[in-house]
Amino acid sequence: MISVSEALNILKGINIPHKSEICPLDEALGKVLFEDIYSPIDMPPFRQSAMDGYAIKWSNAKSYRLINESKAGDTLNHSLNDGEAVRIFTGALVPDAADTIVIQEHVTRNSDAITIDKLPEKSANIRPTGEQIKKGDLSLAKGTSLNEAAIGYLVSLGIHEVKVYTSPKVTIVVTGNELRAPGTMLKPGEIYESNAAMLSAALRKIGITNITKYKVEDTLEATVTTISKAIAASDVVFVSGGISVGDYDFVREALLKNNVEEVLYKINQKPGKPLWFGQNKDTFVFALPGNPASALTCFYVYALPLLKNYMGFNNGALQRIQAKTKRDIKNPSGKTLFLKAHLEHDAVEVLQGQSSSMLYTFALSNALVCIPEHITEVSKGDIVECIKLNEQ
Ligand code: AMP
Ligand code: MG
Repeated sequence: MISVSEALNILKGINIPHKSEICPLDEALGKVLFEDIYSPIDMPPFRQSAMDGYAIKWSNAKSYRLINESKAGDTLNHSLNDGEAVRIFTGALVPDAADTIVIQEHVTRNSDAITIDKLPEKSANIRPTGEQIKKGDLSLAKGTSLNEAAIGYLVSLGIHEVKVYTSPKVTIVVTGNELRAPGTMLKPGEIYESNAAMLSAALRKIGITNITKYKVEDTLEATVTTISKAIAASDVVFVSGGISVGDYDFVREALLKNNVEEVLYKINQKPGKPLWFGQNKDTFVFALPGNPASALTCFYVYALPLLKNYMGFNNGALQRIQAKTKRDIKNPSGKTLFLKAHLEHDAVEVLQGQSSSMLYTFALSNALVCIPEHITEVSKGDIVECIKLNEQ
């Protein structure tokens, strides 16, 4: 059995076969650029007025004669002599001959004559051509994740599509004879299948939408066949359940029969000890324990960083912070604990109900407190490490 940090290191060392695709910018939110983007234009593309006011050739004179008007969208470049002014508005083309905009609040106007009450410095209130970015300069670098501002910025440069990292195609295979879909009546011995919906929600949350789901009975044959289909069609496969040592746990055998090379199996942790990870060519497989809270914990700690790396993010792991525990915590297990908890400011409360079969506590949690394997006891007020959930 390996430690949590060994397992994380092994996964960090996995070589990800990144792929790219062209993506329209209005579908690119949250994706990561696969290319450096150079600006096709100067931005702004012309000398722009930054204010509503009057364009002049700067001098010490106070009085000017108003000869024309330039509003946003006008394309005429008015000529201008000494002592003349052009009425101008924010975003409008500044006449070539003008070098200063006097804001309207500092001008007294009398029909076609204006008097400047407060003279600004020369070149005031003009946005020079290319002030934000010049044609041919790097506008955003490969590896930038596209937020709404980045999308607006690229569109402002006239760009409508970009090359981004392709999100992985994912298949979720849930195993278990006892599993039924909601909407059917349960017989004694049956439960509702919830891991596929939970994992699929966790995937959607980080922008993975190409998700296929299969349910398979606990037989070796069915498990081999379904996993084979899943591998052929996906970049990442999640199998849920059937990875422990029971007589009806066929997942490991089925994975090996499908030539998925075992990279790690069994981690010294609670919950989630039976986690299995392997690789078949360019397809990665996580076999998660069936207990729902174990499956989700393993997803957050191990799968999420790999998926985010696949999608081009530099460090996809959930943020870890230090906080004061509001309770004593005992760890006689010799395993690393991931405890469902509620974090508020710099204090964290480990919640009641840590069983790996229960999701209720998880549903109320916003953090996992991580107690390392060698720590047997933590007292109220001590600092513990927390993995922040919901911050992806
Ligand atoms: P297993 O890992 O297959 O031994 O399953 C461990 C526990 O998790 C058992 O109580 C299963 O009934 C339960 N379980 C397994 N898969 C699921 C699932 N997809 N949804 C809800 N519970 C599950
Ligand atoms: Mg099972």
